[in-house]
Amino acid sequence: MDSILPAYDDPLFSILVIITLILIVAVSSFVMGNIKEKNRRKTLKDFLQGFNQEERQLEIEEMPFEPTLVKPLSLLAQAFKNQGEYQKSINLNLYLINNISNFFEKEKILEELGETYLKAGFLKRSESIFLEILHKHPRNIKALYRLGVVYELLHQYDKALETIIPLKILKKRTESFEAHIKLIQLLQNKKITTNQKVERLQQLLKLEHYAYRPIMKALFSLDLKVAWSNIQTDKIHFILDILWFLPSSNLNLDIISTNKILSAIYIAKGVIEPTTTIPKSNIFAIDTIISAKKGGNNSVDLLFNYGCSKCKQHFPIGFIRCPKCYAIDSIQIMETVAKKESQTGYSLL
Ligand SMILES: [Zn+2]
Repeated sequence: MDSILPAYDDPLFSILVIITLILIVAVSSFVMGNIKEKNRRKTLKDFLQGFNQEERQLEIEEMPFEPTLVKPLSLLAQAFKNQGEYQKSINLNLYLINNISNFFEKEKILEELGETYLKAGFLKRSESIFLEILHKHPRNIKALYRLGVVYELLHQYDKALETIIPLKILKKRTESFEAHIKLIQLLQNKKITTNQKVERLQQLLKLEHYAYRPIMKALFSLDLKVAWSNIQTDKIHFILDILWFLPSSNLNLDIISTNKILSAIYIAKGVIEPTTTIPKSNIFAIDTIISAKKGGNNSVDLLFNYGCSKCKQHFPIGFIRCPKCYAIDSIQIMETVAKKESQTGYSLL
């Protein structure tokens, strides 16, 4: 052995051994990395094969792919999504995803695909896409937020709460989402009594991240007395439509008569008679109706529509989570004076 190998104490031999080891490690990492990437691509391709090849009707599948197509086709897919043409948007995204090999280059397109499935109501597919993104890139914040929405819509609230853990680690704000999901869980809990729910709701009103409107809406349907006693004057505008549409039998005249804004609302509605000094609500539409009534015009009413403070879209019906941008607690109540229709007085509860 001594005749084949140089002496172990030869420094040149030791250096040679170290260099050989480094080379072996470098070559094996390179080979392993390539195999991993190849497997990753294969897994994603197999995964996407599961999504409705037969529904791909945009006739772009056979189109030769060019990297310069990525941007215009991504924009086109977004335009289709915004117009509600979800299938066309999905087809374009699938075409791009199938033709781009690098995960990080197609991550944004996968996010778009997941969001389009979410908007189109394909919740399980949306879940699969976001899970696939997170499998490759666990710190993708958008995918984590959207996965939370998907689980909420699937009524899988515990899973929705699980998405908060990584978001917290990533130092993202999750308080409102957590409060929102916990409130839904409370309202849907059939194992606790109405009294327990009412008690808990009153406690939640005192907590910072729990929204006033959904809690008051729940209280008005569970316990009128408690609901009326929890009206906060500075937050009346958040529940103006709920108050306006309450049936007369659900009103608490004792509380209304002691509050200027509430009195003005129900004078405007014509439920209570105006006193000699008519209260001012500082809600323009309410004060306008009262002035019109004073002038003898009783055929005016309030019309409501709802805006989102985040995406600025308007909707004819109220929401807890914006249907367009999925923001929570972003609802803005917008009231306008309108001519009274024959049928009025339905409840929002
Ligand atoms: Zn919005």
